[in-house]
Amino acid sequence: MIVAPGSTIGILGGGQLGRMLAIAAAQLGYRVHIYAPEPSGPANDVCSLWVRGAWEDETALTRFADTVDVITYEFENIPVAPLARLGQHLRPTAQALAIAQDRLTEKNFIVERGGRTAPFRRVDTRDDLDQALVEISAPAILKTRRFGYDGKGQRRITSLADGDSAWAAIAGQAAILEGYVDFAHEFSVLLCRTADGETRSWDPPDNVHLGGILASSTVPAPATVIGQFAEARALAVSIAEALDYVGVLACEFFAGADGPVFNEMAPRVHNSGHWTIEGARTSQFENHIRAICGLPLGATDLAAGGVVMTNLIGEAAHGWPDILADDHAHLHLYGKDTPRPGRKMGHVTRLTF
Ligand code: AMP
Repeated sequence: MIVAPGSTIGILGGGQLGRMLAIAAAQLGYRVHIYAPEPSGPANDVCSLWVRGAWEDETALTRFADTVDVITYEFENIPVAPLARLGQHLRPTAQALAIAQDRLTEKNFIVERGGRTAPFRRVDTRDDLDQALVEISAPAILKTRRFGYDGKGQRRITSLADGDSAWAAIAGQAAILEGYVDFAHEFSVLLCRTADGETRSWDPPDNVHLGGILASSTVPAPATVIGQFAEARALAVSIAEALDYVGVLACEFFAGADGPVFNEMAPRVHNSGHWTIEGARTSQFENHIRAICGLPLGATDLAAGGVVMTNLIGEAAHGWPDILADDHAHLHLYGKDTPRPGRKMGHVTRLTF
């Protein structure tokens, strides 16, 4: 299926990822329509149509699908069942979403593919948590199976005595208990796959998280990460192949003592790939659009000696005048009004040559 420039791309979700996808799509001559439950969002400034509709409204979704030539998504907590009707129109498929939405399904899927994960146990009840703590032992992290992102829905457990408070903190939702991974670095594999099975990946960024939220991504990554990249990439490629994946797939890893430890995947463009806009010959956003439209992928090599992407979180976005005064900095603001703590307002990418 080739969706030629001049056609219309539908994006489910209208946040900053939708905004950056729409900008890349416009550069290639596409129009973008957004479908989202909110009245507006960061992508609204750069799309030709914003359709407001509930994720569960199958009729509205189908009507939306009829007005566009291909559909993709930028948000991972979209209910999967209503997407079934979109069929081949939807790239990547809903199956990738279904796996990424549930930490237990995701971890089992990785183990089936021969990947290394932190030890984990299913936790449905308070008793399950005690049993899991005995088996895995502290330190550990209790994570809700669904709707966790940016460190939300998680609680660290440092001793058996923390069971009650951790269970209360996640309000008794279905969860997994994960053993704590002692890692030197966190990194991600960002790859893009076409419907014909061609896969390209970018250099792995070294990702620093603060309070569970990505703070910065640096490329090239340290030698430990580079040494683990081939194994991590092979796992990411096998995931993409198993899902007959089309588009950008992000897989996050810990660089552990025995090799890469898979943490989680995002079936979409990813914050740790924002550096590719200026730092690579083709960005994750452009290659995602190329892949879902059946166009050849662009080169993913580094376009600079080094790249550092720093998120502008909350009030940090007010620092834009200083960033603009820096000749090596590229500023991206997402057009959000209120800089709340923990809210991603924009990012800055600095290149060195
Ligand atoms: P997540 O939402 O699973 O990506 O977790 C957010 C952040 O918490 C990760 O990027 C890590 O910095 C930290 N984290 C999550 N799981 C673990 C783990 N099993 N061991 C150590 N750190 C973790």
